[in-house]
Amino acid sequence: MKQEKTTGTIATEATVKRSIYSLQLNEWRDWLKEQGEKPFRAEQIYDWLYKKRAASFEDMSNLSKSLRDKLEQHFVLTTLHTIIQQTSSDGTIKFLFELHDGVSIETVLMRHEYGNSVCVTTQVGCRIGCTFCASTLGGLKRNLEAGEIVAQVVKVQQTLDETDERVSSIVIMGIGEPFDNYDHMLSFLKIMNHEKGMNIGARHITVSTSGIIPRIYQFADENMQINFAISLHAPNTELRSRLMPINRAYKLPDLMDAVRYYVNKTGRRISFEYGLFGGVNDQVEHAEELAQLVKGLKCHINLIPVNYVPERDYVRTPKRQIFQFERTLRDLGVNVTIRREQGHDIEAACGQLRAKERKEETR
Ligand code: SAH
Repeated sequence: MKQEKTTGTIATEATVKRSIYSLQLNEWRDWLKEQGEKPFRAEQIYDWLYKKRAASFEDMSNLSKSLRDKLEQHFVLTTLHTIIQQTSSDGTIKFLFELHDGVSIETVLMRHEYGNSVCVTTQVGCRIGCTFCASTLGGLKRNLEAGEIVAQVVKVQQTLDETDERVSSIVIMGIGEPFDNYDHMLSFLKIMNHEKGMNIGARHITVSTSGIIPRIYQFADENMQINFAISLHAPNTELRSRLMPINRAYKLPDLMDAVRYYVNKTGRRISFEYGLFGGVNDQVEHAEELAQLVKGLKCHINLIPVNYVPERDYVRTPKRQIFQFERTLRDLGVNVTIRREQGHDIEAACGQLRAKERKEETR
């Protein structure tokens, strides 16, 4: 494991200026019009941000000096300051970034056979309160702006530029509940997906939710071809309420209705994440009940062996039992895989690095 740590320089200018990555192409056109500039400059700005990945306003050489000055007056290019960058023996890189107001977030680059995937954070902390998750331990501090989510991908891409590699997929599975920061998340998706933006295909982007039902209907109606995942973790509503308090507000039967609406509306298969928590939800009966729950639904189940979180007392399901759980589902006709683990030596599971930093700070 390799770890680089930097301290110091926090940008205070971003407290008054927006991140330059916050605007969609049409919003740039509107902004340029307001400034008395030509709308086609929007494409040029996008090109500097997402294709050439400019590191300074001076770099943007085909824009007039006065436009560059205006950009600099209103926007900030660097909103993320790397405080920790850890590289795992398997190539996973975990970044801990500090934002202008001193809060920190995590971003992870994962290496797969099929390419480089970035896991982004959407909120500083989380208010959903899942009983097994490190991200929610200190509650929610604030939402990220779209530009602060985009900047995470740009930063990782800038790191990959050094070796001529490319970010090929994105998962919105870092800290926070993306559907609790819906508008910014949607702007982020649009900027990532736009051919003049990061140009990452919708089918290479995955968003995961703990199950905010009204937003699932809204998202289905956006009609994007994004991969969609639900954090399920239990085969019945009683057990799900014990693991995830959100299930008391948005109950499993209603969640399944929303999921069916999504699948019918988009024609896309849905993914369920099912964490295996030793002795809690990992028995053969649970697998059978789960198979019954998803019967007839176009879906895939991703089994996640629990990541140990020191503040939580869940234990791992033994390997043999994980395979038995998988086999039971498969025999009942369910599409299922066990999630491959990466970055084990660098606390790459969501929220772990940030939780550790927070603890050290308060010590
Ligand atoms: N808030 C969103 C996005 C987070 S995705 C959501 O809940 O879907 C991260 C995934 O990891 C979620 O499925 C989450 O439930 C799961 N997770 C969180 N803590 C975990 C842990 N300790 N072990 C295994 N999975 C965990």
